[in-house]
Amino acid sequence: MAKATTTIRQVLNYQDDYAAWFAANQTLFNRVTSFYFEVIQAHEKVLDLGNMDALQALEKLTHTTQSNPHPVMSLCEIQEDIPAMFRRAAINAALGSARSFYSNLGKWRKRKEKATAKGKKFTERPPVPPRSWNKSATLYAGLWKERAGSCIMIKVWTGSVWSWIKVRITGREIPNGARMGSPQLIRKGNRWWLHTPIEKQFKSPAKIEKQVTTNEQTKICSVDLNLDQHLAVCTIRTVEGSILATTFISGGRRVNGLRKKQLGRIARNRRKTGIIAECEQDNADLWRKIHNTDEQVAHLVSARIVQFAKRNFASILVFEHLGNLKPAKGKYSHRGNSKRAFWMKGRIFKYAKYKAYNAGIITSRVNPRNTSRECARCHSLVARYEEGKPTEGYTYGAPLVWCHQCGMRGNADRNASLVIGQRLVERYQKTSKEKPQTLRRAEQSAGVVISQVAKSVGTRPFNGSARRGDHNEHGTAQGVLSGMERHTSDIAYQLHFPF
Ligand SMILES: [Zn+2]
Repeated sequence: MAKATTTIRQVLNYQDDYAAWFAANQTLFNRVTSFYFEVIQAHEKVLDLGNMDALQALEKLTHTTQSNPHPVMSLCEIQEDIPAMFRRAAINAALGSARSFYSNLGKWRKRKEKATAKGKKFTERPPVPPRSWNKSATLYAGLWKERAGSCIMIKVWTGSVWSWIKVRITGREIPNGARMGSPQLIRKGNRWWLHTPIEKQFKSPAKIEKQVTTNEQTKICSVDLNLDQHLAVCTIRTVEGSILATTFISGGRRVNGLRKKQLGRIARNRRKTGIIAECEQDNADLWRKIHNTDEQVAHLVSARIVQFAKRNFASILVFEHLGNLKPAKGKYSHRGNSKRAFWMKGRIFKYAKYKAYNAGIITSRVNPRNTSRECARCHSLVARYEEGKPTEGYTYGAPLVWCHQCGMRGNADRNASLVIGQRLVERYQKTSKEKPQTLRRAEQSAGVVISQVAKSVGTRPFNGSARRGDHNEHGTAQGVLSGMERHTSDIAYQLHFPF
């Protein structure tokens, strides 16, 4: 069995003065967490223990009991009468932060060692422990009770006493039969929310290798992520090579334009005020806007990708590795924009992987080398060009490709997504490498292409304009392939952003 977790987010409705109590509660939580982080720093060995043992060790170091009257660093110095479950939640929060900090520090030390061994100059600064703490308080069992559909009792530090308070909750309800984790009290703006993680169990999907090698009809959704107009192009293919559907998720130009405009504004503001320091939040509102837009787009695009895969019964999702960010030259707004677009790609992948897993789909990545330069049909290098321009050379970002070798013509991003799908299949079919399987299919299917196309035009496999099965990919029917170019716009799925 596999498990997936999601978070149920609910708004809290409460008397006005409770907001101050929640804030006081969170402040105390962070003080205790920060205290335990210091205890861990003073006793680094604790991190060699598992979480349960580390928790016990830390309690022994800090918690006054009859059998332990003089702990080394007493928690009482922060505050007396902290409920055990509040303390434990804070300890675990501190442990999480400490583990991540020390693992980053370890990696930094290794990089430094490597550089000095090679005699290189090493200028990277070491990671620093958190300077300020802004964690949300987790409510372990014992800090909440009587949770019904729209009500919950929670125990909070009001700033002067520990108090049980009753609050109303609204929003999506906890689904029946879900396993609930410990809820968290989250501040968003000036409202307080309750976030509850829930766990869902399902039959774990078979490994990719097994799916690919044992079932020729396994459907793979391959995705080419872009920074330009088409944020993502997805194609569905079977292991044996039939291409069943394609979708274009557009809206990239709009997102990029919007972001560039905001970055431009930031640059102008900075010039005016003379502030250039990276960490200065001189344009906090604008930055927040950019961040929110990127997050929202990443969620929308990843959701679309997974929906498309699900609708077409794909059980594998494949992307290319993102590689490294190649810094762009030019204006501040341009450089910043390409950097953020690169990060967004990473986020789309991350969210898609997570959403796919919840739907029982496994995600993989393939080598990105030349995915947009290679012909999906015969693997030779393609010419990439703009409509109306000569079909030669390679114009980065141009929409069309033409293969001199086999005559394949089509949309560049779609070709890339096909190559990505092929790479995954080829990984498991190394033995039949002498003759690329796509070529074999091309020979086999050349005769039946026309009838299949005719059929697919008459009976669209799905309704709506976003999808269209095209069976012609490996055929030699030139007209049909170039027809695909014309249809690019009506099969595109335009995302509508509410901003
Ligand atoms: Zn070709």
